Amino acid sequence: MIRLALAGCNGGIGGSGRQTTCYLLNDTVLIDAGTGLGTLSLEAMARIDHVVLTHAHLDHIACLPLLVDSVAALREAPLQVWALPEVIGLLRAHIFNNQIWPDFTVIPDAAHPFLQLKPMPGDGITLAGLHFTALPALHGIPACGYCVSQGDTTLAFSGDTSDCAGFWEAVLALPALTAVVVECSYPSAMAAMADLSMHMHAGALSERLRALPPTVASIVIHRKPGLEDRIAAELSAALADRDLRLPQPGALYQFG
Ligand SMILES: [Zn+2]
Ligand SMILES: [Zn+2]
Repeated sequence: MIRLALAGCNGGIGGSGRQTTCYLLNDTVLIDAGTGLGTLSLEAMARIDHVVLTHAHLDHIACLPLLVDSVAALREAPLQVWALPEVIGLLRAHIFNNQIWPDFTVIPDAAHPFLQLKPMPGDGITLAGLHFTALPALHGIPACGYCVSQGDTTLAFSGDTSDCAGFWEAVLALPALTAVVVECSYPSAMAAMADLSMHMHAGALSERLRALPPTVASIVIHRKPGLEDRIAAELSAALADRDLRLPQPGALYQFG
């Protein structure tokens, strides 16, 4: 069984109802560390053993530096952060560099650090019983999605991406897909902006979701602030006969 709690699932901030990307899986594994992370209790944050990142844009890592610092005194083992090797390099160079934030990979000492930054192996990794493999994404910087599987349950996360044929081919090839958690930042009337920023728009996403088996749940996230209703209306009209979900932060799903 996979319990998926969407602490943050918006494409920006504004009021307590908008929090950026942060998904908690089975209480101990996090996908992305956007502002939604700050809505978790300190105890819930301290239980997180692994953070798996899709990319290093701020809306997906904003609360990672603060998480490490907040829970350091409460944890025995280091917090482990997994991402593409290029993303790990960006975190080392630009965040945990002793200028923007301390290098917690050597604090309090290199043998017993608060934080470990770990490149995701090419064939994936199993974390707390959940198997992660990277999926293709097209976002203009090093970025990926993830397939997360446990037993008969398989979830596919797009991360941030433009309309990436490789992602959808990989998703369609998965033997038992339960749900896709996929971004849609703009309505189709703003397709030019979606292309410029390398995000999905509702028109392209509708076509992709329609090609999936009808039993697959579609959880649409990363709607940009102020555009939520337009995107929801467009997707709902195009996918009326599908299992379409348009969550708010705090949404909780259970699969398997
Ligand atoms: Zn991004
Ligand atoms: Zn984003």
